[in-house]
Amino acid sequence: MMEADILIENCSEIHTLKGPDRPRRGDEMQDTSKIKNGALAVKGESILAVGSDKEIKRDVEAEKIIDASGKTVIPGFVDPHTHLIYSGSREDELAMKIQGKTYMEILEEGGGILRTVRATRKASKQRLLEESKARMDRMLAHGTTTAEAKSGYGLDKKNEIKCLEVIDELDKSHDLDLIPTYLGAHSLPPEFERSEDYIDYCIEDVLPEIADKDLAEYCDVFCEKGVFDVEESRRLLKKAKQFGLKARVHADEIENIGCSKMAAELDAISAEHLVKTDEEDIIMMAESGTIGILLPGTPFMLMEEKYAPARQMIENGMAIALATDLNPNCWTESMQMVITLACLQMKMTPSEALTAATFNSARALDRPDIGSLEKGKKADFLVLDIPNIDHLPYRFGVNLVEKVYKRGEKV
Ligand SMILES: [Zn+2]
Repeated sequence: MMEADILIENCSEIHTLKGPDRPRRGDEMQDTSKIKNGALAVKGESILAVGSDKEIKRDVEAEKIIDASGKTVIPGFVDPHTHLIYSGSREDELAMKIQGKTYMEILEEGGGILRTVRATRKASKQRLLEESKARMDRMLAHGTTTAEAKSGYGLDKKNEIKCLEVIDELDKSHDLDLIPTYLGAHSLPPEFERSEDYIDYCIEDVLPEIADKDLAEYCDVFCEKGVFDVEESRRLLKKAKQFGLKARVHADEIENIGCSKMAAELDAISAEHLVKTDEEDIIMMAESGTIGILLPGTPFMLMEEKYAPARQMIENGMAIALATDLNPNCWTESMQMVITLACLQMKMTPSEALTAATFNSARALDRPDIGSLEKGKKADFLVLDIPNIDHLPYRFGVNLVEKVYKRGEKV
């Protein structure tokens, strides 16, 4: 008999996501390694055993037994693209957009991203901690157990470092794990006139200090027409790599100027948004292994019709992940909502969406110890109050998570 701390038994379904030890692509995304009538045993922070209810009950003794009849167990959601750290909100801009105002008009009235930059610069560290922690509490309650968090609303050195230090403090003090990304090249700050000069500043003044203080694992750039072009983005990411930061890219969101191709050439771990990505880009990313992170909440909140071509990506053997893009323009902490949008608007199947929101998103953050339920992996998992995974996109706008376990503990 094996001794476990917790045994979750009589599960209607367990989706273990066991399979090839690399990002899942093509048909592999459909296979979530489902066990019907399953059980899961936890010892300490890790998974001790997972299998059929009969098998596990025969082999495992546990101090604590939890009945999960009629429930579905899946790995904790991994959200690989969030702008978690910001101050304030912009709900009035949505109200204006609903009435037909354009983004440019809102910008001219002092709205948009620079409004959030002003608020974030003004906010004390304590205030940023409190506002961001409230979002993390909601993320965890909705089943996210690990997330990426970007800076990018400070822009200057002092404020970018302030935001990255807030990420570090939140990671240490909260059950939800955070992985930090430096996104200084999110927008051109008002102090600079030319984007190339600002990229110089990021490279010469900011990156060395971030690397020195070990404040970021990734460097990201908003590569887009009228923001930072392909050459500027490439220059920044190459330099970041020399400082030991891995590359990820905001690419092809509004226009396709060749950013996802550049991401593939640089062997970036991921290219994100990809709404305007074409077949040639998809083939390049499939070949390079760059993971596409799709953010269907963003076109939804912008009331746009076009979403990233998820089906074309899957058919061409490109690995894709899903994320919230949590930010003042797309404020959701819920990966469940993202799964609903991925299925309804991008025609992903519930199983593909689950793979994209757990296993592949863990790979998009280079975290092979999470994202699947296998012996020895971290016991980050959810008990959902649904009998099967098809309910996940089907019952939208409500929280289907009943229990969240992080490192073997109910949180
Ligand atoms: Zn983003």
